[in-house]
Amino acid sequence: MNREEMNQQEKLGEMLYEGKAKQLFAVEDDRQVLMHYKDDATAFNGEKKGSISGKGEMNNSISAMIFQLLERRGVKTHFIEKTGPRDQLCRKTRIIPLEVIIRNVTAGSMAKRFGVAEGTELSEPVYELTYKNDDLGDPPMNDYHAVALGLASWEDLELIYSYAKQINGLLTPFFLAQGIRLIDFKLEFGWVADSEEPLSEKIVLADEISPDTCRFWDAVTGEKLDKDRFRRDLGKVEDAYHEILGRLERASYAE
Ligand code: UDP
Repeated sequence: MNREEMNQQEKLGEMLYEGKAKQLFAVEDDRQVLMHYKDDATAFNGEKKGSISGKGEMNNSISAMIFQLLERRGVKTHFIEKTGPRDQLCRKTRIIPLEVIIRNVTAGSMAKRFGVAEGTELSEPVYELTYKNDDLGDPPMNDYHAVALGLASWEDLELIYSYAKQINGLLTPFFLAQGIRLIDFKLEFGWVADSEEPLSEKIVLADEISPDTCRFWDAVTGEKLDKDRFRRDLGKVEDAYHEILGRLERASYAE
């Protein structure tokens, strides 16, 4: 941690939560939190542990750019502003314990489960849910499980899927324009107080979108530019994150 970050941390409130890749700190306004991105990396439900040099800074910048792009296109998110190299201010949410996975091309667990070669284009996107629970290893879950266990209502799920489709519809062509195929990715949603209707809450996109949570393949060479380089010991992990950051920066200058 550098001096600037230490000074900043002194002003922060207590640490509310520490996850595998991020820490959440309280700030003065209790409707907000500060999200701090770490270099730590884990895979296979925490079995493989390591660190990717510079990842915290790169993912903070990458995720901030993507959330800003989504906000500009009308998607409601928790993102407020990037406040430091590894920090961003976000609205405090109650995370819905579901991971929403969107797949455009088979890879990872889907390729394995159905015996389909990685890289097979899907005739339409696939939407999956997993139960966000580290002790259980984030098991796959369907809509009926989610409703019957009281994690979300049918209306919530309808909204979540419509958000997921909208986000995929925005991000897939956006990344392709930067020479990147968006193979699959994971989203999380949370509840925030609704500023327009004071007594109600609404669902917004939360967490992060980065090479930790997406599979990105170079559109020309097919090279993997995401966390699979860490998971599968492919080397050049930092370079891959750096490449994604560079392409996003060039896209935002061009806007
Ligand atoms: N993913 C994630 N967090 C998880 C599980 C998956 O961000 O806990 C992302 C992963 O990076 C990939 C997509 O969701 O972009 C689909 O992952 P998959 O189900 O294939 O699992 P994996 O092969 O990553 O274990």
